[in-house]
Amino acid sequence: MVIRVVVVGGGVNGIGTALAVKQELPNCQLTVVSKDFTPDTTGDGAAGFWGPYLIKGTPDHKLVQWSQDTWNLFNEWYKSGDRLSWGVSLVPGVTVAQHEMPEEKWSHIPLSYKTLTQEECAKYGRKYRSGYRFTTLIAEASRFLPKLMARVEESGGTFMRKNLSSLEEVASTADIVLNCTGLGAKYLVPDDSVYPCRGQVMRVRAPWMKEFFADDSEDSSFCYVLPNIDTVVLGGTHQDNDWRREVDPADRETIWRNCIENFPSLKNCEVVKEWVGLRPCRTGGIRVDTDEIVVNNRHIPVVHNYGHGGCGVSTFWGCSREAASLAADLIHKYHGPPSKL
Ligand SMILES: Cc1cc2nc3c(=O)[nH]c(=O)nc-3n(C[C@H](O)[C@H](O)[C@H](O)COP(=O)(O)OP(=O)(O)OC[C@H]3O[C@@H](n4cnc5c(N)ncnc54)[C@H](O)[C@@H]3O)c2cc1C
Repeated sequence: MVIRVVVVGGGVNGIGTALAVKQELPNCQLTVVSKDFTPDTTGDGAAGFWGPYLIKGTPDHKLVQWSQDTWNLFNEWYKSGDRLSWGVSLVPGVTVAQHEMPEEKWSHIPLSYKTLTQEECAKYGRKYRSGYRFTTLIAEASRFLPKLMARVEESGGTFMRKNLSSLEEVASTADIVLNCTGLGAKYLVPDDSVYPCRGQVMRVRAPWMKEFFADDSEDSSFCYVLPNIDTVVLGGTHQDNDWRREVDPADRETIWRNCIENFPSLKNCEVVKEWVGLRPCRTGGIRVDTDEIVVNNRHIPVVHNYGHGGCGVSTFWGCSREAASLAADLIHKYHGPPSKL
């Protein structure tokens, strides 16, 4: 019996999950169904900064495990000799704030994490009271998603563009469904605890900016500067329950003013693009767990993998592997041991 697997969602988590499923169950028949694929997913506009962020509600040990797995993958790409095509760079920098920031639970994962003294923080601006420095990996999803999709295809997976109104639509022809629909899960599960956190950014050309900088203050000075390979991402906003996808001129003003206050050299740089994305947040944090739907009296197992908020790039590989492992367990439970498949 060939097991029919449907992954719903074409973002970093859907494509990562599809690849992890193919690694776990190489003989399955795999289809990825999604309304959007790269370059139109949330991760495509994100900087791809590795740093667990805006992810309230996820247990610390899970966040650390998922982000460690993803760090390991980015590190492999970085060392592969092909890091440009994977879109990975190694970037040092600082996060500072006007409030006290505790040491991060993930501080042992990136390179050279160091808590800054008050004097060191003040070098970035007298208002800063706490902060830390580390060297991280930045992985641009707009570069690595097409490569991951090619790997899914090489392993026999196929892609279908479709806007679903329910998971049942695909479940009737599947033996298992993996739901990686980000904000779409709000309506498809349905899950009321899913909500958007609006993020507006600008991409500029400023090749002299070699370090990342994040002002994580809880007031209007919040901003970040994140170097990518060809551009630098200037941000940003984090507006909960705001569904607007258009660029807001007032947000542009704030981003520009805050970034230039910290880095006056950005003043004359060329703006390449402005973008708004909706972070798929969830009150209880990232959801990677199992479920079941019933279609025409048939019980179909489901694995959910959504709610990654502001760090879906930083955690996608750990979450994808866990989702694939849950899928393998469910297939065993519903259809017998792998030797029979
Ligand atoms: C401004 C901004 C900056 C960010 N920066 C970073 C960063 O530096 N580092 C980091 O780790 N994270 C960052 N993030 C967060 C990160 O981009 C997201 O957490 C991540 O991309 C979510 O991926 P996903 O695959 O779960 O969801 P998505 O990319 O949103 O994908 C969901 C998929 O499901 C499909 N779908 C939804 N509903 C349906 C339906 N009804 N039928 C069919 N298909 C459906 C969609 O078409 C899409 O393909 C940022 C986000 C924003 C907005």
